[in-house]
Amino acid sequence: MLHKFPFSVRRPYEKLRRFPQGFLVLGDAISSFNPTYGQGMTSAALQAAELDKLLTQGTSLAQMALAFFKAAAKVIDIPWQLAVGEDFRYAETSGPKPAGVDLINKYMARVHRASLHDEVVCCAFLKVMNLMAPPTTLFHPTIVWRVMKYGCNARRAEQSAQAALAYN
Ligand SMILES: Cc1cc2nc3c(=O)[nH]c(=O)nc-3n(C[C@H](O)[C@H](O)[C@H](O)COP(=O)(O)OP(=O)(O)OC[C@H]3O[C@@H](n4cnc5c(N)ncnc54)[C@H](O)[C@@H]3O)c2cc1C
Repeated sequence: MLHKFPFSVRRPYEKLRRFPQGFLVLGDAISSFNPTYGQGMTSAALQAAELDKLLTQGTSLAQMALAFFKAAAKVIDIPWQLAVGEDFRYAETSGPKPAGVDLINKYMARVHRASLHDEVVCCAFLKVMNLMAPPTTLFHPTIVWRVMKYGCNARRAEQSAQAALAYN
């Protein structure tokens, strides 16, 4: 599939000190992700919910944009971390690599394997990917234990399957 631009973009509006009153930037215009992960609309909807909170709280028009950009940045942090981290699995990915990403990707590879065998890990993974739970939930001891158990067993199963193929 072809995309208009083959990279993720994040514009740090939250670092601005001034912004024209009565205007806002939202959704892909602040941050767009590799569409493979399907998080752009969810991220935009969560940003809209943050805007709704600010409007309900009666935030003044003068303070609205900067308050919104700070709230939106917190929403974007999570899909950004997920999408950019995953992209670093591929040698073609360039740009500044966040610390610890290789280790997390090794763990996530086990999460993927374990989710084929374990319903609890699968549900936890889907909640994170659909932005319904923070990524830290995948590091809860119950999940880590299941990932190690099923992730390793699945790897052994894959190895046996490959050995059987090689033998045949
Ligand atoms: C191939 C692909 C698959 C995707 N799959 C998913 C998915 O499964 N799940 C998911 O959550 N997200 C997915 N996304 C991401 C999602 O589509 C975007 O994150 C989302 O549409 C962003 O909404 P937006 O309103 O910020 O921007 P947009 O949807 O791009 O809306 C911006 C609008 O502004 C208009 N516009 C631009 N310039 C001007 C101008 N100068 N004057 C007037 N109008 C203008 C454009 O025509 C457009 O209609 C996918 C993206 C792609 C490319």
